Amino acid sequence: MRPISYLRPDGTQDGIESALRAVATDPGSHFLAGGTTEVDLLRQHVLSPHRLVDINRLPLAGIEELPDGGLRIGALTRMSEVAAAPAVRRRFPFVARALELGASAQLRHMASMGGNMMQKVRCGYYRDAESRCNKRLPGSGCAALGGVSRTHAILGTSEHCIATHPSDVAVPLAALDARIHTRTLDGAHTYDTDAFFLAPGDTPDREHPLTHGELITAIEVPALAMAERSLYLKVRDRESYEFALVSVAAALDVEDGVVKGVRIALGGVGTRPWRARRAEDALVGAVATAQSFDLAARAELGAARTTAMNAFKPELARRTLVRALETLTRDGSR
Ligand SMILES: Cc1cc2nc3c(=O)[nH]c(=O)nc-3n(C[C@H](O)[C@H](O)[C@H](O)COP(=O)(O)OP(=O)(O)OC[C@H]3O[C@@H](n4cnc5c(N)ncnc54)[C@H](O)[C@@H]3O)c2cc1C
Ligand code: SF4
Repeated sequence: MRPISYLRPDGTQDGIESALRAVATDPGSHFLAGGTTEVDLLRQHVLSPHRLVDINRLPLAGIEELPDGGLRIGALTRMSEVAAAPAVRRRFPFVARALELGASAQLRHMASMGGNMMQKVRCGYYRDAESRCNKRLPGSGCAALGGVSRTHAILGTSEHCIATHPSDVAVPLAALDARIHTRTLDGAHTYDTDAFFLAPGDTPDREHPLTHGELITAIEVPALAMAERSLYLKVRDRESYEFALVSVAAALDVEDGVVKGVRIALGGVGTRPWRARRAEDALVGAVATAQSFDLAARAELGAARTTAMNAFKPELARRTLVRALETLTRDGSR
């Protein structure tokens, strides 16, 4: 038994200050939101906080509509609430769909949007305290390289880590250039998704730029007209309650058969939610045909580096991306 103390600040601005102070000044204190990642890892002895600071009473829930048509989603808003919100479903259908296809109904009712951004990798070696893992214990090595790596990443990997980023909703958020708002004792900060989700490089233990005790307060989704015609496709080993082998978030604007604008991000294949900028560049100005979609997918996946076990992923990703774009061209939003 490990003793863990518990603090639950109240729902005022003072409560926010007290939560920030409690965690920022103590490396052994962690924020607790829905607990669906934190408590799991605590039970598995991967995380070992001596104090949990429950942020659920802080005034950080709800969805605010911004004057330009964007949204500000409070960090404590539950995944299920965001998925059901009419403004999300109408303006950003791929965000709603990515949330609906994540985890299970029970988990989506508990899990918060801020916690989703901060969830840890699903690599089995990370979650097994006995295995070598550079993310959990820097410098110890990576057991997945040469180990069981069927679900691991093919884009943005390094010789130190090949774990995929697990979040579904972070994929359309990357396509939308969403911004993550945070608070520290020094004030407010904002990160673009590109700057927020870090590739492993030489420092796989750093998954985001936040300092210890930095609190996500909200996710800002900028307005994007073409997102009304958007789709999230998730391919996985079973139809529900499973992480993506490959997923695609895409929004498309086609006029007179020519691609005027496109946003694409991939999940299940990258060490971070993978913005497919090469595919986007290849598509803008191209005729919207299966052949252009295929060329764009190949442009993106040319950079893939596979292991013996996940060598199927580039082809699966290519097919999923082409299917997503064909579906959008044919049917509109999903
Ligand atoms: C069985 C299972 C299946 C799952 N399947 C999927 C899936 O298919 N797709 C998917 O996307 N996700 C999936 N998840 C992950 C799930 O979405 C995350 O566990 C959840 O979003 C985390 O939110 P939470 O509020 O429970 O976070 P918590 O567990 O409370 O916290 C997670 C981490 O974030 C930190 N944290 C929480 N809130 C904040 C904040 N506001 N600011 C700073 N730090 C914070 C905590 O300290 C902790 O380190 C699955 C989880 C489980 C257990
Ligand atoms: S892939 Fe990353 S998370 Fe998995 S064992 Fe290697 S270093 Fe750890």
